[in-house]
Amino acid sequence: MKAAVYEGPRTVTVKDVPDAKIEHPCDIIVKITTTNICGSDLHMYEGRTSFESGRTLGHENMGQVVEVGSAVRKVQVGEYVVLPFNIACGFCKQCEQGLTNYCLTMQPEPDLAGAAYGFADMGPYQGGQAELLRVPYGDFNALRLGEDAAERQTDYVMLADIFPTGYHATEMAHVKPGDQTIVFGAGPVGLMATYSALLKGAGRVWTADHQPDRLRKAEEIGAIPINTAEQNPAEVVKEATLGLGADNGCECVGYQAHDPEGHEDASLTLNGLIDSVRFTGDIGVVGVFLPQDPGGAEAQGEMEAQGKVPIDFGMMWFKGQHMGTGQAPVKKYNRALRDLIAGGKAEPSFVVSHELSLDEAPTAYEHFDARDDGWTKVVLHPDGHGNGHKQ
Ligand SMILES: [Zn+2]
Ligand SMILES: [Zn+2]
Repeated sequence: MKAAVYEGPRTVTVKDVPDAKIEHPCDIIVKITTTNICGSDLHMYEGRTSFESGRTLGHENMGQVVEVGSAVRKVQVGEYVVLPFNIACGFCKQCEQGLTNYCLTMQPEPDLAGAAYGFADMGPYQGGQAELLRVPYGDFNALRLGEDAAERQTDYVMLADIFPTGYHATEMAHVKPGDQTIVFGAGPVGLMATYSALLKGAGRVWTADHQPDRLRKAEEIGAIPINTAEQNPAEVVKEATLGLGADNGCECVGYQAHDPEGHEDASLTLNGLIDSVRFTGDIGVVGVFLPQDPGGAEAQGEMEAQGKVPIDFGMMWFKGQHMGTGQAPVKKYNRALRDLIAGGKAEPSFVVSHELSLDEAPTAYEHFDARDDGWTKVVLHPDGHGNGHKQ
């Protein structure tokens, strides 16, 4: 089968690899019809992680089931399914509590938790930017889709990661109807956090970024854009709230946060949130931060390369703010969000800028990594059948 294989910093090649196959009676094999390139793929693409050369990328996947293991009871051949990026067992101490993002069974390293497809430090699993994907514990991990699945793939594929992840940011920030919420980052996840806050009935949502094309998307869905090249988000928000600040905020950028000139500073968005959010407000951090950033010494400094980020903790403590962190437990939200899509209440495909074939993955990585204007979210169709309104 064909797959998009990581071959070293800034090198992705589409080549033939062995077919994904059933390795355990609970596995299913999915023919991938839609798979996304994600901002966190870029951390691996840029060589900033321990991701091994020769592995297939891709953790945002959906497709059609083509084979099921002998112990699979629910999922059937022919069904369209979307796969949470978290690979989970369903029976460990963490999964029992719904914390599939920190599954203990699927992570082979005893001192780590959590697993994902084609992801650094999250187990040996291959990614889905390929023609076929092996899904462990298929009955637990696959979310089945309805009759409109084939036509609405660019909506449903967002359930694999960015829609639940954006939603999770608003859950950790405790966004409620009427709240005034600020989102740092208007990349795909920031746009999904913005969208989720609006779906929850937030009274006012600001989205801060310095990329005009991304800010335009935020404005299109009803947020107030803040261009950080021109304005200080904390000042904008305080001026609009009698000096109080936002009720809550979401961090959707991560350790590669940078100013409009491109200078990286991992504390930039966290300190922006501590400043922008009111006393006792809540902050949800879903942007990726890492315990080690091997490539980060050059971009930032020795301290940041070891995952140490200097934040205004004194001010955060003084303000009595709360901060929630970590990857999203996708399964906790994906069923409800699927039904919002099916019911016509949510259309997360608005983030999609490009639908391409798998063969175009190398070009797509280049453009997305360069943050080229208009490259918001790239969707690949390994089966060659784009439902393709965007090229
Ligand atoms: Zn992702
Ligand atoms: Zn588990």
